[in-house]
Formats: sequence, C-alpha cells, structure tokens
Amino acid sequence: MYNSNGYLWKMLLFITVATVPVAIVSFWLLSHDYIRIGHVALLIGAAILPAFVLFTKLMREMQAVAFRMERAAIMSPLEGDDRSTLREGLLPLDNVLLTMEQYRRVLQHMLREAQSRQDEASLLFDMLPDPVLVLGNKRRIRRSNVSANQFFSVEEMEGDLTRFIRHPALLKAIDTAYEGREPDSRIEFTISDVVPRHVAAYIVNLKDESSEGLRLIVTLHDLTASRRMQQMRVDFVANVSHELRTPLAILIGALETLMGPARNDLEAHKRFFTMMQAQSLRMSQLIDDLLSLSQIEVNEHSRPSDRVDLGKVLCGVSSLIKAKAVNLDKALVLDLPEEPVFVTGDFDQLTQVFTNLVDNALKYSFEKSEVRVEVRPNGREARVAVIDEGEGIAEEHLSRLTERFYRVDSDRSRKLGGTGLGLAIVKHIVSRHRGHLEIDSVVGKGSRFTVRLPLSAE
Ligand code: ADP
Repeated sequence: MYNSNGYLWKMLLFITVATVPVAIVSFWLLSHDYIRIGHVALLIGAAILPAFVLFTKLMREMQAVAFRMERAAIMSPLEGDDRSTLREGLLPLDNVLLTMEQYRRVLQHMLREAQSRQDEASLLFDMLPDPVLVLGNKRRIRRSNVSANQFFSVEEMEGDLTRFIRHPALLKAIDTAYEGREPDSRIEFTISDVVPRHVAAYIVNLKDESSEGLRLIVTLHDLTASRRMQQMRVDFVANVSHELRTPLAILIGALETLMGPARNDLEAHKRFFTMMQAQSLRMSQLIDDLLSLSQIEVNEHSRPSDRVDLGKVLCGVSSLIKAKAVNLDKALVLDLPEEPVFVTGDFDQLTQVFTNLVDNALKYSFEKSEVRVEVRPNGREARVAVIDEGEGIAEEHLSRLTERFYRVDSDRSRKLGGTGLGLAIVKHIVSRHRGHLEIDSVVGKGSRFTVRLPLSAE
C-alpha cells in the first residue's frame, strides 16, 4: 500500500507537472502585460484544483485494482469468482482485469484437474486388494491403504514400520532401498501371529527425492491362503494314494496267494475272496465319496431350491439304515414334530447328510445304546440333532473333524468301513444349503451333531 508520505510527494509532483505549462503561459502573458500578477495566481490556482481532483481519482482507481490483485493472490483460485466489476473510470483497466481473470480460470482448471487426479489415485490406492504402505524417512509410515489397515487390524497405520513388522529380511531390504541401491525384488517372510501369516513383500523406491525426503512403496502380498491350499492339495493326493494303496496291497497279496500256495485250497479261496470283496468295496466306497465330494464342491455356490419335508428325508434315512442298527443291536429313534417341517434344499443331498451322521452315530456309539434323531423348528430355521451315547470326541479334534481324511482313530475308522470323508461331505452339503453344522461332544458320554437349515417360506 501507499504510505502517506510517498503519496503526498507523488501528489505534489503530479500537481507541479500539471500546473507548470499553465504557470509558463501565465508568466509569459504577465511579461507582455496582457494580465496582472493577481490573474497569474488565479490561473495557477485554477490549474491546481483539477490536477488535485484528477490525481485523487487516478489513485483511487489504481488502489481498487491493487486491492483486486491482492485479494486474488490470497484467495484460493477454486473459491467462487469475484464477479464485481470496477466502475468505469479514467484509466483503461478492463484489459488488466480481463487478463487476471483468464489467469485465474487457467489456474482454477489446473487445480481442479490435479484435485480430481489425486482423488482418483486415493480411491485406487484404497481399492487395491493387497496391503500397500508409503514410507517416508527412517521407515516412518506416511500412508497405508484400507487393506493394510485391515491386514494389521488397526484403524490407521502410523509411526515406525517396526511397530507392525520386524522381520530382519524386510527391514534390511528397506534400508538397502534407502541407500539408493536396488533391494531384492521379492522378500518372503512369515509374520508370527495367532495363525502365522506368510507374506511376500515388494519394495519400490520413489526416486524423485521430495522435500520430505526419500519415499518407498512397500506392497505386501498375503500368501497364507495359497500356501494352505497348496499344502492341502499335496496332503489330499498323499491321503488318497495312501487310502487306495492299502486295499490294493491286500488285493494283490490275496491274488498272489490264490495263484500260488493256496491254489488248490478251497477253504482259503473262500476266506481270500471274502477279504478281496471287502477291500474292493472299500475302494469303491472311497471313490464314490471322492466323486460325491468333488461334485458337491462344484455346485456349492448354487443354493438348492426345492421344498423338502425333513420328516420324509429322515424316514427314508431310517429305513435305509434300520437294518444296520438292528445288526449292531442299537436302537434308532426318530423324534419328529407333529407338523411337517419344510426346508429349502435338495432331497438326495439332505438324505446323504443324515445317512452319514446316523451311520457315524451307530459306528461310534456304545453297544446296545440308542441313537436319537430330533427335528425342531426354531425361529426361521430347522434344527436336526443326531445324538448318540458313545465314547465322544475330545475337544481338540472338534474343529478338524470336517477336514478330509481327518479321523480321531484311523484304524478304528477303517475297520468300521469309514473313508474319513463323511463329515467333509456333510459340511459342504450343509454350506450349499446355507446352513450350519454344530458338533458338541462329551468324552465318555456321547456326541450331538446339529444341522441348522433355513426353513422354507410357505
Ligand atoms: P469316517 O469315515 O472315518 O467315519 P467321518 O468324516 O464321517 O469319517 O468322521 C471323521 C471322524 O470323526 C471319524 O473317524 C471319527 O473319529 C469321528 N466321528 C464322527 N462321528 C462321530 C461320532 N458320532 N462319535 C464319535 N466320533 C465320531
């Protein structure tokens, strides 16, 4: 702004310059006696007044433009336009204002563009399925995306990276990147947690050293699930081979004996044929269960849509398995409500579920005991409980029972004709029905397998 001193001097200078020509003319007229001294004073005075008015007016106009410029400098270009115009004055200031406005528009456009790019980048950053961190100087976390926050179960990752990961291989690679050298392209490590997690990390150095120092981008890729899948596949193949090898070895052995030393022994023939039949049935049962399991897995995503009467399913299961119960000298009791209970499901698959559960209950219960099947509607679901009185299952096995080939006692299961796949099949069918399987057991007393299924709408 103008200080009053400078303003005064400028005004005096302006007035002086403006009145000099009048003063010269006045003095010339005086020297030739056209006018008197009083007229000279009058003429100079008359020139001073408009010069003063003109100066003040020009100054006001300049001040108004300066004020506009000052405001434009302070204000964000994204703030609303300043549409007030200057009143028309003596100076041609329209062009200055027009240029200013154009600059402002260009700046506004550039800033909006930058803002929308930043918004897109932020959205993209948060949508990335893998955890991503941006590190500043000294391993300080500058930014973390939603996946990273979820991965480490925090609202926002802050502070030093070592608060979250301390694995020496990763920290060493990060320090290498800080030193400007190329770190290993992929670092694999395990984060010890309740369940250990296998992670692959990738580090990128943002080479343009910003005012805030070096920046690194660390991407983590959780390998736990894929590792587990890999392991499960390996275990599965090993288990299937093992399950098939045993009966096959028995079959080969029996055949060799029949063709060799026992060729003419009719008694031995009978014994060996019975054994071969049992082993063939075992292999056939195993293959049936495997096929059934893979078929259920293929369709697991598509929920069945038939309206199924649970009473009918269970009566069917009971008649299928009654003979076995009688053979084992065990009682099979069906406890159904008076009103039929309908669920949305697949009749054959539900028959498979309850056949497996009742069959297990008969296999693993005490001699001469009772196996009870109870059906109860409960709110919006039906509960079917298969209850036995048997040796029960220890707590530590419960969570693993539905894994393929998991058995509490493998020899016992095999002797009883089990494949170790029954409960895995049950679990997949129940989950296809959007139901739940609950297992409660007391060692020495017995077990209760409850299947909860959504009731069918009327
Ligand atoms: P299996 O063919 O061996 O019966 P399942 O998958 O049906 O395979 O069952 C897995 C294991 O769970 C069985 O080997 C057995 O140890 C245990 N189990 C299943 N049902 C019962 C039960 N009612 N009582 C005790 N143990 C059971």
